[in-house]
Amino acid sequence: MKERQDYRFDLMPAAGSINRREFLKKSSMAAAFGVAAASLGADFGLARAAEKVTVNGLPGTVLGRTGLKVTKISFGGMLFTDPAILLRVIDQGINLIHTAPEYTNGKSMEAFGKAFKQNKSLRSKVVIALKERPEDLDPCLKVLNTDYVDILVPPLERLDLINDPSIPDNFQKAKKAGKCGFMGYACHDNMTEVLNRSRELGYYDVTLMSYANAKDPGFLAAAKAAREAGIGIMTMKGLPKEIARKSEGFNLDTAASLCGTMVGPQHANTVLASMSSFQMIDNYHDLLETKLTYHNQELENRYWAEQMGSYCSMCGNCTGICPQGVRISDVIRYRMYHKDYQLTEYARQEYAALPQGCDGSFCRECGLCEGICTRRLPVRQMLREAHSILA
Ligand code: SF4
Ligand code: SF4
Repeated sequence: MKERQDYRFDLMPAAGSINRREFLKKSSMAAAFGVAAASLGADFGLARAAEKVTVNGLPGTVLGRTGLKVTKISFGGMLFTDPAILLRVIDQGINLIHTAPEYTNGKSMEAFGKAFKQNKSLRSKVVIALKERPEDLDPCLKVLNTDYVDILVPPLERLDLINDPSIPDNFQKAKKAGKCGFMGYACHDNMTEVLNRSRELGYYDVTLMSYANAKDPGFLAAAKAAREAGIGIMTMKGLPKEIARKSEGFNLDTAASLCGTMVGPQHANTVLASMSSFQMIDNYHDLLETKLTYHNQELENRYWAEQMGSYCSMCGNCTGICPQGVRISDVIRYRMYHKDYQLTEYARQEYAALPQGCDGSFCRECGLCEGICTRRLPVRQMLREAHSILA
């Protein structure tokens, strides 16, 4: 426990940006009693304005009111299976790592666990963000070979889930037992509404948001308000999906510009990037070191234009619109896990877990969703394809 506390303290903002003791005290009080975080906003604004953070010599950020210092690009473990990759990531100075029980069919967490077992000093060098609920934490800790994780980000994609009162209760129990530090959530759908609600609730410290639709003004306003209120923002799905698997040949300039935009005008603290090869880790390290301020609007525009008609932005525009009750963006996302990330088993598991009557087979081809789709996707065809592969 002592080691953990010391480590946390090392991760706090540089002296002078804010009174650390006062900041932590306010944060934990807000979390413990579930009060709105608005009063933290002023302090956090000061901290953000003064933010000149480095982590292992790389550009860093204070992850909202958690006070954790993390690199502006983080390691996403969605495709991860080899402990040697994690060693390289840590060696290159990247210190926020993310995983989930279902990634690579459980192999992602196992690989983290193997690395931590082989080298016990590794655990204290990283911040772990785990996609799991507080009441289900114990089996994950066992696989990960650690007694605590820093941040929990279970998927809470709808208002009824983010409002669930059992979450803060269960989190407080797990936190009291020393198993986790901060409560967050992951969200792919209905993001603006969920983000605004989590800010009002006040007890979510971190969010992991899809940034495939970050240009939406409503979403940007919600992200800005969340950040000002002290919620740390991690992003996913905001980088070219081709990067996730290819170690060479991807356009580093496009990736650099997109990263810089996310951690700049789009209000994110850190960009989660899937890294599945040494080359890719080195590329992201170089990007962090030298190109995070690079901006090329033309490249970004071209990239997003290429996604038109093929890539769901998870904008949420079609949520609840289907008269048959099909969970359109979920089905399309599971298709993407299969097609773009080759995570077919994971995609099948998620597809099978859809509520009864919500999968692609219930589409009656009325075309309503295609009429309002912001990316002009051939939704009916995508649903048919998803069902034939994943059912
Ligand atoms: S085309 Fe299919 S998925 Fe889309 S609204 Fe109509 S029935 Fe629902
Ligand atoms: S299918 Fe179209 S409308 Fe629905 S979330 Fe995706 S991009 Fe938005």
